[in-house]
Amino acid sequence: MGDGPNLGPGKVAEALEFRPGAVLDEIDPHGTALAPGDHGHTEAATAGLEAELAELQVRLYAEAVGGGHRSLLLLLQGMDTSGKDGTVRRVVGAMNPAGVTVTPFRKPTAEELQHDFLWRIDRALPRPGNVAVFNRSQYEDVLVVRVHQLVAESEWRTRYDRINEFERRVVDSGCHIVKVFLHISKDEQKRRLGDRLEDPAKYWKYNVGDLAERELWADYQAAYQDALTLCSTAAAPWYVVPADHKWYRDWLVANLLVDALRDLNPTYPPPGFDVAEQRRLVAALD
Ligand code: AMP
Ligand code: MG
Repeated sequence: MGDGPNLGPGKVAEALEFRPGAVLDEIDPHGTALAPGDHGHTEAATAGLEAELAELQVRLYAEAVGGGHRSLLLLLQGMDTSGKDGTVRRVVGAMNPAGVTVTPFRKPTAEELQHDFLWRIDRALPRPGNVAVFNRSQYEDVLVVRVHQLVAESEWRTRYDRINEFERRVVDSGCHIVKVFLHISKDEQKRRLGDRLEDPAKYWKYNVGDLAERELWADYQAAYQDALTLCSTAAAPWYVVPADHKWYRDWLVANLLVDALRDLNPTYPPPGFDVAEQRRLVAALD
């Protein structure tokens, strides 16, 4: 349990960034080292961050109304039950839904398969002023596709560079990217799968196919290690979020988003009218 280090702006991002030489297997999914306090204290801190997130999001939205072109993309990856949906609920819940789009990426449709793997990704990017959330992403094309050998190795090997080039272009166009890997332990996955079978209100979340994927745990971890290593770039770094504790995960993701938006520091556009004159006109209305 963290003993309350008061981290300054950017410190969480700095601590979680996956850097060259980092080894996923050495990062503890159960850790809570950065937490500002115990469970309750951390949840209170998250609520404070979410209020700031909401305010910053409105500013980003307003900036675009005034002609700004900037936007934010939160990209979520993680093993089954790692908390992608829970994070979406939490993050989206904190923001004005009018400015947020959430896109889950599943097994490609027949139409999607007729295009390059980045086609469906490109279409889901945020418009100016918006926040887009990806539940899975282009990385599935070097994860599940690699683990299940859905395309030849000579093909998926080329995709790391192509993803980097794509993300570079997206960032250059004004979209800030926050890529989060929700890192859970195999034990925690077992617990969460079990929980889903204890409550009829959770059966819908249970997928029998998840058990077969779990058998491939080591292959997935190896594929993640490569994706994180090869695609954590200066333009779009990867962040590894220890996610066994939901309260800690939420606090970390809220921090990453608030940090990103503070850096962008979106500004309300100046009025396109004479405020004093409009005040007079409104005061004179019957
Ligand atoms: P869920 O996120 O639980 O709705 O599951 C979505 C499923 O779609 C997961 O099993 C993913 O691995 C799979 N999926 C996502 N993208 C791809 C892809 N590009 N190729 C094959 N399977 C994918
Ligand atoms: Mg699933």
